[in-house]
Amino acid sequence: MGFTHSHSEVVPASTARAYQVAAHQRFRIVAHEGAQVCDAAFVGADNHSVTYSSDLSVLFNQLEGTGDIHSLETLYSRPPDTEPMVRVTEDTIGHHFPWAGGMCCSYLYEIRDDEPSHENCADNLLTALNERGLSLEKVPEVFNIGMHVTVEDDQIQYLPPEFGRGDYIELEPQIDLIVGISSCPNDTTIMNESEPKSLEIQFEDPPR
Ligand SMILES: [Zn+2]
Repeated sequence: MGFTHSHSEVVPASTARAYQVAAHQRFRIVAHEGAQVCDAAFVGADNHSVTYSSDLSVLFNQLEGTGDIHSLETLYSRPPDTEPMVRVTEDTIGHHFPWAGGMCCSYLYEIRDDEPSHENCADNLLTALNERGLSLEKVPEVFNIGMHVTVEDDQIQYLPPEFGRGDYIELEPQIDLIVGISSCPNDTTIMNESEPKSLEIQFEDPPR
């Protein structure tokens, strides 16, 4: 069954937003202004301790033959109540960074760029999720969408983005979720082509 676009929201450049999305209400995260990395956090709407597990999601997808360190078919929640949280139903972006769960934060900008007060995904996501009714003290692990990362000589290598305007990933929650979406504010590296952009979020209507 095709995607039935109902309405869109925009996550402005260098900000985060959070949305409640029903089980099986698909949504697309669209790089509508060009290559733009997104950090997405997933929290169970009925049980806020249900969050995404980056390392186990990669492991389980590898074992199931459905993913690798660049892409996943199913995003799983952390133990002990591991269950499918989200399925990737379409993906024109292709390369992601799903296995580390990390995000840019003030300490990263401090040690790398000497800019400790730089806007960052961690602070933006925590604020957005809590404004949506959560009371989190720590940012959950995120699914990093669009970051092209590989490993060479035991070092993580960050490569230029390999997608562009109009590319998207389509996700189908398997349970009711609060989804935090950060348009990464990184303008100090090749990520985001050095220019943070907004993201368009296209939603279907919730299933009846
Ligand atoms: Zn970021």
